Formats: sequence, structure tokens, C-alpha cells
Amino acid sequence: MAYKKMLVAYDFSDSGEKALQKANELAGHDKAKLHILHVVEYLPPVDTSFGAVSPFEVDLTDQLVESAKSRLASVAEKLGIPKEQRWVELGSPKLEIVRVAEEVGVDLIVVGTHGRHGFGLLLGSTASSVVNHALCDVLSVRGKDE
Ligand code: AMP
Repeated sequence: MAYKKMLVAYDFSDSGEKALQKANELAGHDKAKLHILHVVEYLPPVDTSFGAVSPFEVDLTDQLVESAKSRLASVAEKLGIPKEQRWVELGSPKLEIVRVAEEVGVDLIVVGTHGRHGFGLLLGSTASSVVNHALCDVLSVRGKDE
């Protein structure tokens, strides 16, 4: 069975790079559309002197999102992934990966086995949560030193 739509979760880490290469190979092989997602995890510190969210924190979040968009764009352009298949979301990677996968209706999610959070575990925390909650197949790609 060939996959038609895939989502690769890319965190700019080495293992994310490995997952991206594998997803790109598979998408080429299956002639599938490859979507790419990066989740900005920034959580503004609560500073009640400015109310719930201060203007400075909003600016910083916007900057992080803009910077992630331009980093993702340069990676996506090299692989020929069009703009409408690039996603930058704000929040928890575990939740956003599954949410975007459902919104797009992908039949395969590709993640790295370990990225920034996961060393020491057999399957990293993001990968294991995605495997547990996704409604579609999930491929977890091991990094070269794992
Ligand atoms: P980790 O849970 O940090 O070990 O990450 C494992 C894998 O989850 C990474 O290789 C990515 O595929 C994915 N992932 C983790 N954090 C993010 C993120 N912020 N944005 C997109 N994908 C992520």
C-alpha cells in the first residue's frame, strides 16, 4: 500500500534531519505529498505586573514563530516542499503533531525516535506520545548514533 499524504515533524535536531531525509525518500517512492511541521514550544513566563501576557512576551513569541518559518522555508525549498505544505505551529509538539496530521488527513506521520527531549528512553517522549494518540501510521526514525 502506498501512502498518499505524509507529515514529517521536524525539530531542527540531527535526529529530526534523519527523519526528514527518510520521509522525503518515502514520499518520492510513494509519490505522496509531504507536509512538514515545526512546533514552536515557547511558553511565556507569567508576569502579572503586565496582566496575563505582557507586550514584550507577545513580541518574542512572534519573533520565534517568524524565525522558525524562515528556517523551515529554507529546508522545505531545498526539498521542493511547497508553501501550502509547510506548517509552523505554537504549542506542545505532542499535541500539535497529532492535530495537524488529522487536519491535513495524512496517512503517515514520520518522527525522529529521539530529539531534544527523549534520550534515555527506549522511544523518546514525543515519538511515544504520537504513536499512542495518532489515528494513522507512525514511522519513528532512529538517529545515526542510537
Ligand atoms: P523528542 O521527544 O524531543 O525526543 O523528539 C522526537 C521527535 O519528535 C523529533 O525527532 C521530531 O520528529 C519530533 N519533535 C520533537 N519536538 C518537535 C518540535 N518542536 N517540532 C516538530 N517536531 C518535533
